[in-house]
Amino acid sequence: MSTAEANVEVANDPVPEPKGFDLTEGRNARVGDITVRRMLPLRLRRSVGAWCFIDHYGPMDVDGKTGMLVPPHPHIGLQTVTWLLAGDVLHRDSLGFEQLIRPGQLNLMTSGRGIAHAEVSPADHDPQLHGVQLWVALPDASRHVEPAFEHHGELPRTGLGGFAISVLLGELAGAGSMATTFSPIVGAQLSAAAGPASCVLPVRPDYEHVIFVVAGQAGVEGVRLHPGQLLYLPTGRREAAVAAPAGSTLMLLGGVPLGEQLLMWWNFVARTPAEISAATTAWQLGEFGPVGGYQGDPMQAPPLDVARLLKPR
Ligand code: MN
Repeated sequence: MSTAEANVEVANDPVPEPKGFDLTEGRNARVGDITVRRMLPLRLRRSVGAWCFIDHYGPMDVDGKTGMLVPPHPHIGLQTVTWLLAGDVLHRDSLGFEQLIRPGQLNLMTSGRGIAHAEVSPADHDPQLHGVQLWVALPDASRHVEPAFEHHGELPRTGLGGFAISVLLGELAGAGSMATTFSPIVGAQLSAAAGPASCVLPVRPDYEHVIFVVAGQAGVEGVRLHPGQLLYLPTGRREAAVAAPAGSTLMLLGGVPLGEQLLMWWNFVARTPAEISAATTAWQLGEFGPVGGYQGDPMQAPPLDVARLLKPR
């Protein structure tokens, strides 16, 4: 596997859909030196609300190892959400932002019409690494906005039935995040850190949701969940019964169904092959600008096969 291929973030071959039940298994993918559980996109479900990409990695021992090494690469048409449960990651981008992120903090990068970034474990990094990498598709009306980066060192927290809840995006259980969003959306972490937890979580009926476990296990509406599994909850429900033993942590993501046909290729979220092709050429020509402070070569785009992009999924 070449370096470029090893660092491809997005699924060209989405996870197969399960039969019958809305509980899907992620598949392993490589991002640089680390193995991730890729849970979205699915073949038959490209997005949940505007969420269009879910990777979960770790917990892993990176003591004396490279850890995360994602060289400079471009994005269009999306927001990237970096969220850690353990460890530290250094973000740098073509706007000139350099930001270390630690557990409980949020790095939110809005690519809009185009940005490049790199995410690496710092030279003197924590021995543990555990986190999620999420993408939010920008709706058609907002996907050409100017690129931006924001870091939230503190997020709103609330509690329910023994769960400590941190709200990354949107609003949940009375706590609302200040992070910039472009569609009706929610993203939250529920942690049963102090002991077993059980609650009936209020959710918006106009949202569809997914829930996944990043540590321990959980029961959601009677369905047992382990890390690597994604439970889909359709629109129309006002609550979700969630229970987890001590030490377990879950993520809840949701939003109003996007209702737009996304075309995802490599690190781009677009609508047409022509846009993908133009973004690829722009990257090859250096038009996204340099990622300052990064030592080493940027990622190369994999070969673009427009015929495959056009194939109905
Ligand atoms: Mn990225």
